[in-house]
Amino acid sequence: KFEASKVLQSLPKQFFANLVRKVNAKAATGADVINLGQGNPDQPTPDFIVQAMQQATADPANHKYSLFRGDPALKQAAADFYQREYNVTLDPETEVAILGGSKIGLVELPFALLNPGDTMILPDPGYPDYLSGVALAQVKLELIKLREQNHFLPDYNELSEDAKQQAKLLYLNYPNNPTGAVATSDFFKNTVTFAQANQIGVVHDFAYGAIGFDGHKPLSFLQTPGAKDVGIEMYTLSKSYNMAGWRIGFAVGNADMIEALNLIQDHLFVSVFPAIQKAAIAALQSDQSTVTDLVSLYQRRRDDFYAAARQIGWEPYPSGGSFYAWMPVPEGFTSETFTDLLLEKAAVAVAPGNGFGSGGEGFVRVGLLIDEPRFSEACQRIGQLHLFSR
Ligand code: PLP
Repeated sequence: KFEASKVLQSLPKQFFANLVRKVNAKAATGADVINLGQGNPDQPTPDFIVQAMQQATADPANHKYSLFRGDPALKQAAADFYQREYNVTLDPETEVAILGGSKIGLVELPFALLNPGDTMILPDPGYPDYLSGVALAQVKLELIKLREQNHFLPDYNELSEDAKQQAKLLYLNYPNNPTGAVATSDFFKNTVTFAQANQIGVVHDFAYGAIGFDGHKPLSFLQTPGAKDVGIEMYTLSKSYNMAGWRIGFAVGNADMIEALNLIQDHLFVSVFPAIQKAAIAALQSDQSTVTDLVSLYQRRRDDFYAAARQIGWEPYPSGGSFYAWMPVPEGFTSETFTDLLLEKAAVAVAPGNGFGSGGEGFVRVGLLIDEPRFSEACQRIGQLHLFSR
C-alpha cells in the first residue's frame, strides 16, 4: 500500500549490500571465506575513549536534549586539534559543525547548499554514498575521472566550459577511497585556483586523514592558502579512533558552508548523544599515540599484503594512505567478473572497482582489515588460479 517516494526510489542501489549477500551465500556453502571486501575497521575503540564515554553516560547532565549545534567544548577541541595537527586556525563557533558521522554531512550538503537542477561534480571512482546526496537534492551530476596516469587526482581541464560554469560544488577525497591515492600540495593549490575562478564550493572528505603510509602525513585541504574561502573539510573519528559505530565527526572551514550545514542539521537532528561528544573530546585531546599505533598496524598489513600479492605476480597500485589496497584486474576480466571468480574459486571476497563508478573499472579494492596469515592464505589461493603472468 505504501511505497517509497520517487526521490527515494531514484537513489542508487547500495552495491555493498549485494556484495555482502554474495559473500554470505558463499559462506553458507561451508567455504572458509576470506573477506577483504568491506571497509569496517576491525580494531576496538581505544580504552581511554570508552572510559570517557562511560563516565559521561553516568552523568545525568548528559541525558537531556543537548545544545542543537553540539557541545561548544567539542567544537573547541576540534579547532585545537586542527591547530595542533595542521597549523590551521579555526573559529570554533562559526567554522566547526558537529555531525553524527561524516556520511550524514556528505549526504546533506548538496541539499544544504544547492537548488534543484544545480550541478555538482563528483570524483569517479568515488565513495558511493556521495551519489545519495545528489539524488536527494535533485541536482545534476558531473563526474570527473580519477586516472591512474594522473595518480588518481582529477584534471580540471577535462571539464567542459559548461560544466565549469554550472557546477556549484565539488567533492574530493584524499587519502582516497577506493584507490589509496594521496593529494599533493600543488594539487590542492590548483584546486583552490579552480574553485575561485569558477565559484565552486569544495568539500574535501578527509575520512582517512590520519592514515598515511611511508612516514607521510596526509595534507589537510585547509592547509592550502585560500582554502577556507572556497571550501570545507569533513573529518570523522570513525577510522582514526575505530569509532565507526559511535557516529561522530565534524566539518570545518568556510563559515557560510558550515552555517548551511548547521541549518539543515537544526531541522533534521538535535545532536549526537552528549556522552559520545565527551568521548570525542577525549580522543581529540589525547596525545594521538593510539593513532600512531594504528597507522603502524595498517602499514604492516599493507606491506604484508603487497609482499604476498607480488609473490604471485599481482602488482599493486601503491597506496599512500587509507586502509585499502587498489589492485589491477588481470587481462580478460572486468572488475565484476574477476570479483565473482575470486569468490567462487578462491573464496576470497574483494570489492569490484566499478562499484565506485565506471572510473574504478580495471581494479578491485582490498580492505587491509585482517592480519597475516590470512593475507598470505588469500594470495596463495588466488595464485593457484594462475591469472597473473610473471
Ligand atoms: N567518506 C569516506 C571516503 C568513507 O570511506 C567513509 C566510510 O567508509 C565515510 C566518508 C563515512 O564515514 P563516517 O560516516 O563513519 O564518518
